[in-house]
Amino acid sequence: MYDFEKRYGSIIKALLKAPKEEKGLFTLREGPYSLIEALQKKTPITCRTNCKVHSVAGNTLHTSQGIVEGDHIVLAAPLHEVKRLYPHPFWKKIPTHTMHNVHMGFLEKVLPYDGYGYLTHAQENTPILGGTFDSRMYPRNSGTSGEKISFFIGENPGSALEDQELFSLAENALTSHVKITKKPVAKALIRGDDAGVIYGPNHEEIVDKIIKNAPSNLTFLGNYIDGVSVDSSVKRAKLEAFKTL
Ligand SMILES: Cc1cc2nc3c(=O)[nH]c(=O)nc-3n(C[C@H](O)[C@H](O)[C@H](O)COP(=O)(O)OP(=O)(O)OC[C@H]3O[C@@H](n4cnc5c(N)ncnc54)[C@H](O)[C@@H]3O)c2cc1C
Repeated sequence: MYDFEKRYGSIIKALLKAPKEEKGLFTLREGPYSLIEALQKKTPITCRTNCKVHSVAGNTLHTSQGIVEGDHIVLAAPLHEVKRLYPHPFWKKIPTHTMHNVHMGFLEKVLPYDGYGYLTHAQENTPILGGTFDSRMYPRNSGTSGEKISFFIGENPGSALEDQELFSLAENALTSHVKITKKPVAKALIRGDDAGVIYGPNHEEIVDKIIKNAPSNLTFLGNYIDGVSVDSSVKRAKLEAFKTL
C-alpha cells in the first residue's frame, strides 16, 4: 500500500490505474503436501520430510535426521524459525504478531455449512480471528467420513494465554460461531508466538539489508520477504532459483 501511494499518489488512484499483474491468493487443490509429492515424482531430488533443522553452521545442517552437508542452503522456514537459525540484529526491526491454532477432529460430518471457513469482524472484539473448515478445503487429507476444523486465535502483546484458555476459546467458538455442540474426538494446539509478520512501511528496506549482508552460500525464502500469499513466496523462489542455479 505504501508502494502504491508512493507510485500513484493515492491508494484509490493505484487501484484504478495499476496494471493487474498480481495474481493474489491461491491454494493448491489437494493441499500443500501435493507439491512435495509432485516434486518427488517428477524430479530426481531427495525430499526428507518430518525433518527438523536444529541449527545451521556454514554449509552444514544439524537436523532431527542427522547432519546434512550441502553446497548451498536455502532457508525457507517461517520468520520465527529463520530468526532462530540465522540470528541477526535487524530481525528485531520486523514487527510480528501472535496467532495460535486450535485444531479439532470429529469422526462424523458435523459442519452445518458448505464453505471453507469464516473470519470474525474486528468489532466483535474477540481473540478468535476465524476458523477454517480443513476437511472441506482438503478432503483428501482429512478422510472421507470425519471432519477437521481449525480456529485461529490472536493475542495482545504481554497477555500470555495459557493452553487451557486457548482450548476454551476455541470450544466457545465451536458452539457460538459454528453452531456445533458435538465434542471433538481429538484436539491439538499449535502455539504461534511470533507467527505473523507485520509488513511496515520500511519492511522491504530491512529485509533487503539482511539478504544483501548474508553469506553467499545462504538464500532466504518465505512469506516474510515480499508478502503473505503463496504467490509472493513462489515468485521470490523463482527469482532466487534463477540467481543461484
Ligand atoms: C490459515 C491460513 C490460510 C491461508 N490461506 C492462503 C490462501 O488461501 N492463499 C494464499 O496464497 N496464502 C494463504 N495463506 C498464506 C500462505 O499459506 C503462506 O504465506 C505461505 O504458505 C508461506 O509460504 P512459506 O513457504 O513462506 O512458508 P510455509 O508454507 O509456512 O512453509 C514453511 C515450512 O518450513 C517448515 N519448517 C519450519 N521450521 C522448520 C525447521 N526448523 N526445520 C525444518 N522445517 C521447518 C514448516 O514445517 C513448513 O513446512 C494462508 C495462511 C494461513 C495461516
